[in-house]
Amino acid sequence: MSETRHDWTTAEIMAIYNKPLMELLYEAATIHREHHDPNTVQVSTLLSIKTGGCPEDCGYCPQAARYHTDIETNDLMKVSHVKAQALRAKASGSSRVCMGAAWRNVKDGPEFDQVLEMVRTINKLDMEVCCTLGMLTENQAKRLAEAGLYAYNHNLDTSEDYYKDVISTRAFEDRLQTIDNVRKSNVTVCSGGIIGMGERLEDRAGMLVALTSLNPQPESVPINALVAVEGTPMAEIEPVAIWDMIRMVATTRIVLPETQVRLSAGRTEMSREGQAMCFFAGANSIFAGDKLLTTPNPDVNEDMEMFKLLGLNPQKPFVKVAQPTTTEAADSELVPLGEKPKWTRPGHTIARNETAKQDAKLTE
Ligand code: SF4
Repeated sequence: MSETRHDWTTAEIMAIYNKPLMELLYEAATIHREHHDPNTVQVSTLLSIKTGGCPEDCGYCPQAARYHTDIETNDLMKVSHVKAQALRAKASGSSRVCMGAAWRNVKDGPEFDQVLEMVRTINKLDMEVCCTLGMLTENQAKRLAEAGLYAYNHNLDTSEDYYKDVISTRAFEDRLQTIDNVRKSNVTVCSGGIIGMGERLEDRAGMLVALTSLNPQPESVPINALVAVEGTPMAEIEPVAIWDMIRMVATTRIVLPETQVRLSAGRTEMSREGQAMCFFAGANSIFAGDKLLTTPNPDVNEDMEMFKLLGLNPQKPFVKVAQPTTTEAADSELVPLGEKPKWTRPGHTIARNETAKQDAKLTE
């Protein structure tokens, strides 16, 4: 059984990435099977609850106010609208709703209260709730946890070295601080990045070094391919080759064996064969819906057809993302709704009954 390591070096990860493809795939698929059901893929729906007008300057993002893109900006969505969208997502097989707001950071006040209400509302639908709202304080993370938030997304985007070439309005260290603040609550962490932004292979490996060095490691790591949008500084960058995506997914699976690896933006450019290779290489989550915040994504029916073709099943909500700590848990991959999982999250040292208490709160 492969072990969780926090001391990977850039050179080691680059060596994995550069292995002959068949060896890389075989190794990744073997590790994937040791830790996950290879026929189950988690489906999340990403919902933009506040679109555009962001003060940050992320070079890939059409929501940055300073770039001239043709996205439609929207104020914070009403809770009733979010609920309707979540119900639709659930009916089409999603187990998680991820709500994204184009903010630099969360500000306490009526808008944050409205987001907390959205979290409570989706939680009552027996779905996992994730938010990506920008930088977060420890106290705000705790309030989101109390509302029933399951995961918080905050991507590292790229390596620490390349970060300043992509974003100047905040530092890599700020990202780590928010992840640390989330870790002080009972909310799981979703953090990954984007390839195809002009970075070197060292930067792809460097991002994985940073993610693997986190303790605990993120429960979820999205791997995005840049979707170049007109009006952004990265508009002219050529799409990343499918082989790069496959290699990146496989490498991520090998160095983060217990994590859920999310095949995220860029799927519209990928054939079903390409996506199938990513699933084989260890991707076990996708985002569903015809939009990923503002960029195009395959529609839900297309994805369900692909699942049927490949014999994949959507994962139920509140399924383990970590290594079982009891035989009983190992025998039961899927936890029926309302029942308490029997494992601890990676790196968490809290007692088992405490975990169950916390998870029960999440599943109420
Ligand atoms: S990625 Fe997020 S923080 Fe960066 S500009 Fe876009 S919405 Fe703002």
